[in-house]
Amino acid sequence: LVSRVPGVERSVVDVAGVPIGPGTMTLIAGPCAVETPEQTLQAARLALAAGAVLLRGGAFKPRTSPYSFQGLGERGLRILADVREETGLPVVTEVLSAGDVELVAGYADMLQIGTRNMQNFPLLQAVGEAGRPVLLKRGMNATVEEWLMAAEYIAQRGTLDIVLCERGIRTFETSTRNTLDISAVPVAQGLSHLPVVVDPSHSAGRRDLVVPLSRAAVAAGADGVIVDLHPRPETSLCDGPQALGGQDVPELARAVEDAARLM
Ligand code: PEP
Repeated sequence: LVSRVPGVERSVVDVAGVPIGPGTMTLIAGPCAVETPEQTLQAARLALAAGAVLLRGGAFKPRTSPYSFQGLGERGLRILADVREETGLPVVTEVLSAGDVELVAGYADMLQIGTRNMQNFPLLQAVGEAGRPVLLKRGMNATVEEWLMAAEYIAQRGTLDIVLCERGIRTFETSTRNTLDISAVPVAQGLSHLPVVVDPSHSAGRRDLVVPLSRAAVAAGADGVIVDLHPRPETSLCDGPQALGGQDVPELARAVEDAARLM
């Protein structure tokens, strides 16, 4: 279902009126985690200033440590819905378990499957039945083939509106959190008709690399990028070192404008 038929153009996925696919360079931006209504609204305003057309933000957070901030849950979803109302930005947010799919789909415009859940097959099947577009992160230890098979699980249950997201893989390199596999962009686009976006924030784990890697993603043919933005990154409850702040917005906006000129 997700394979590319030679000679047939790749698909465009529509997220509440926002197209992602060939001919687009979609910027998705927002906080790693929803913390407060003010923080989320301020992050959304920064996202708009950078040229974003979709708002990201986690209400259910998959943290390595059980002692880290786990997200606000449904309260976070309500904040995202309020900020959508205020800014007009459709919302992308992660769902962690099959049992929460209905709840999250009640608020979100697009359901995100995180890297740690890429092979959670009951979850993939549940989001496939939810009637919402899906952002499918690549597992940090997954091959491109395994990633596409995960997309197939979703597609089999009825949802073909799937956007693949390359977010870095585990390698021996320690200067970044994960290694952005830039070659996965054209490889996946060659094998699948689904759009492919890149998350430079979660792959590098470093703010200084977010704009350069966004430019690399565009040069490799990505259909968009998803970036962490926070009004005060130093106070962020989740992944602060990778979040862009207000002072970084002009540079991100320039990268997005340059990408749009290349379209
Ligand atoms: C996220 O985007 O909030 C996230 C946790 O990303 P990943 O699953 O790629 O680590």
